[in-house]
Amino acid sequence: MKMIRWSVMLGMLAGTVANASPGAGGTSGVRILWSGEVHSKFLRQSFFQERKDCLDQMIKGSAWVDSLPNQAPSKAYMHAMRSGSAQSVGDARSLMAGFIQDYLNEAYIEQQRSLEVIHATPADPLARLTHDGKLIRDYPGYLKSCYLRGAGLHPVMDSTSPAHANFAIWSISDIAGIFDHGDLPGSLEDMQAVIRDPDHAVRSIGLMRLVNKIYLDLGLRDFRFENK
Ligand SMILES: [Zn+2]
Repeated sequence: MKMIRWSVMLGMLAGTVANASPGAGGTSGVRILWSGEVHSKFLRQSFFQERKDCLDQMIKGSAWVDSLPNQAPSKAYMHAMRSGSAQSVGDARSLMAGFIQDYLNEAYIEQQRSLEVIHATPADPLARLTHDGKLIRDYPGYLKSCYLRGAGLHPVMDSTSPAHANFAIWSISDIAGIFDHGDLPGSLEDMQAVIRDPDHAVRSIGLMRLVNKIYLDLGLRDFRFENK
């Protein structure tokens, strides 16, 4: 995984250094944010009661948000960051809130469509149930809802990363800043950082459970994850 992340990083450097305008941005480094390992750990801790197949999809959905096409500066909001100094914190936060809302709303719709609340154990011993006893009517739809949940919760996790407090500006020009992110040596966001400062994990887990509850359990689909 580290090798993949390194090559992603090198690919980004090769692809974007040529386009970077000199002196652009205020900079706090290239974005690779929490490592994949930390994202998985946060999801497992937040949703430990979920079915394993659902949790696996949530982890995949979150990993998709960190995939190369979603690492472009224009997608910085997916990682609780700004695309550059021209973008205000408020604009980035609004884009992020929209992303979270869109994905968790879609997860909610898919979940409603694929599950059925039952009041007794189904006669079919092969029937699949969720951890809270709902009958899974449409298994692929159920897994899709889990994937969307993982994607929608990704920026919530990224927003607690020590390397991008208050919507840091994504920039390629601060090479030293690379080492603040992701799995790279000395990263602020690797597992050691979580162990050193458990407060980040507590905040991330609390926020994820809250956001999940708002959209999925309570179905408050108009809710905006924004605090101005
Ligand atoms: Zn991210």
